[in-house]
Amino acid sequence: MGITLAILFGVPLLGLARLDLFGDAHRALLRPVDFAHGLTAVLAAIVAFYVVTFTINMPAGRMFCGFGCPVGQLSRFADAIDAFPNDPLRRRRGWLELGGFALVLSLAVTLWWTAPASVLAWPAAAFAMSAVSTVAAAAVLHGRRWRWGFCRGFCPIGLYYSVVETGAPFGIDFDSAGACIDCGACDTICPVHLEPRTLEAEVPAPGGLAFDGLPGLNHCLHCGLCVEVCELVTQKQPGRPAMGLRRLHRKPRRLDRRSDVPAVGNEPTA
Ligand code: SF4
Ligand code: SF4
Repeated sequence: MGITLAILFGVPLLGLARLDLFGDAHRALLRPVDFAHGLTAVLAAIVAFYVVTFTINMPAGRMFCGFGCPVGQLSRFADAIDAFPNDPLRRRRGWLELGGFALVLSLAVTLWWTAPASVLAWPAAAFAMSAVSTVAAAAVLHGRRWRWGFCRGFCPIGLYYSVVETGAPFGIDFDSAGACIDCGACDTICPVHLEPRTLEAEVPAPGGLAFDGLPGLNHCLHCGLCVEVCELVTQKQPGRPAMGLRRLHRKPRRLDRRSDVPAVGNEPTA
């Protein structure tokens, strides 16, 4: 997420690409340009960002969804608010994180369309303030209302990745010889309703416009929540140091049917 924010702020601030809607401070590749070239630079930067995420997704599946996407990060912060309903301090901190991240994100988005120098003068200042507050409000609303439902079934990039990049060799892996105690916590926590221990099997669409009949790993966001909860659960099991789930591990071959999946139980099977 740090890299994503650095790119979102760095590109317009350094002048790699910027369209100044209220002035003439358009930039392309660090140089002053006219409106048309500024617009071209912004569009090219968006395409380049997409190409980078596409390239990452080839070896590591939808890793960008779980680690680099600001929309997913909003959902994480929103989850944190609800994780401790009876702890007002943690809830307050969660709201601060969600609101703060939404503001930072909206500022970054606005800087692509307005030069920092021109936001101090009318009418750019009015535009910048309304853009920042609108995007920030939409970001908080997303976190509170739609959250992972958007990632599950409506994010156009995620839906596209779930179909085109099906052969990623690295991702979440279940080691049946590990310390699985069959607690089911990983199934419960998965935000896209997958069963992390059987990601190679075909699953019904997790919701929205998502496609049916793809292996679970195509829908997996690589958010790592299942691995984190597994770590938490298995740490409490005396004499069971290794976890069942592992992150960014080389995955086994794809299984065509859920019935092909090896049974898991309380005891290691190998
Ligand atoms: S893989 Fe981990 S979290 Fe999932 S059921 Fe087994 S012990 Fe529980
Ligand atoms: S399977 Fe694990 S890593 Fe994948 S989306 Fe579900 S919780 Fe996240």
